[in-house]
Amino acid sequence: MSESMKAIRVERLGPPDVMELQDVPAPTPGPGEVRIEVEAVGINFADVLSVAGEYLTRTRVPYTPGMEFAGIVESLGEGVTGVQVGQRVAALGGSGALARYSVVNAAGLIPVPENLSGAQAAAFPVSYFTAYHGLKTLGRGVEGEWVLVQAAAGALGTASIQLAKAMGMHVIALASTDEKLALARDLGADVTILQDDPDRVQKVRDAAGGKGVPLILEVVGGKRFQESLDMAAPQGRIIVIGNASREQANLRPVELMKRNLTVTGLWLTSLMNDRAATMQAAQALAGLVGSGQVTPQVGPTYALADSARAFQDLLDRKTTGKVIIEPAR
Ligand code: NDP
Repeated sequence: MSESMKAIRVERLGPPDVMELQDVPAPTPGPGEVRIEVEAVGINFADVLSVAGEYLTRTRVPYTPGMEFAGIVESLGEGVTGVQVGQRVAALGGSGALARYSVVNAAGLIPVPENLSGAQAAAFPVSYFTAYHGLKTLGRGVEGEWVLVQAAAGALGTASIQLAKAMGMHVIALASTDEKLALARDLGADVTILQDDPDRVQKVRDAAGGKGVPLILEVVGGKRFQESLDMAAPQGRIIVIGNASREQANLRPVELMKRNLTVTGLWLTSLMNDRAATMQAAQALAGLVGSGQVTPQVGPTYALADSARAFQDLLDRKTTGKVIIEPAR
């Protein structure tokens, strides 16, 4: 009889409560693959959108969500070298991590520095690579420059603040509550402004010296996207990374002409195909994490059986840092 394990399954797309805890056959590693005992799964806004069927790629059901995780290598498939059983690793794949075991290609494993816990390692890949590419690869941010970070207390936001500060940039943080702004300040944000402050556009422009902000990491979308255009400095760069509002934004391209603005899209999944950019980011991030200059922010942690609640809390803006699910709990 095949070995079974607990896993989250999604049979039909919808809100988080479509996720069910089920007993399913445990996967076995094929050639070139490893089986990992999952310690911690990092939950991204993209996971919530995938379950809802609203992500950039089509979600095929039934499936087990969970794209980012860390755990202990439990067994090796045929031909796998350079990985030890018992080693802690992180991985970034399409899905399948919300389970006791997950099987991934050994070539895609991410080594975990010794100073990180399983939860910290699971909080790392998506947010920090995305923040790095937003600030540097595509954003071309430089020391001494101002950057605006939206949803600043979230997983990507906290990563963006830490990396921007490590790069010598000045940070304006926007978030929805005073508690979230306090966290942003603890992480080094220089100026913090409530997302719904009626004077937010002017306050952001003033904070950056009156002319607006040269670099904006835009993750909210909808009507806030128009505000980002208003907050940008002449020749400002707006990096579109997300659409947490799930609202449509209107962009009249001629508006970009007036102040020579640039709007650039960023999707980590497709940017990972750029090997040079990925290697450069990996090198920079390994140094910053290894030296303790940046520390992945672990948010609330949940048991596997509480996955739907974890997803709902993320959607309801109740969380800070990276939401973590621990399948062994
Ligand atoms: P977060 O931990 O940042 O949680 C989402 C946050 O978005 C909330 O806490 C909330 O912060 C903010 N938000 C603003 N408006 C809304 C709204 N209407 N509904 C819900 N949340 C809202 O999540 P992630 O770090 O996973 O993701 C942040 C954003 O970055 C998302 O848009 C995500 O899709 C995007 N992203 C994109 C990537 C890419 O490759 N392009 C990779 C990683 C993330 P507050 O309450 O302070 O407003």
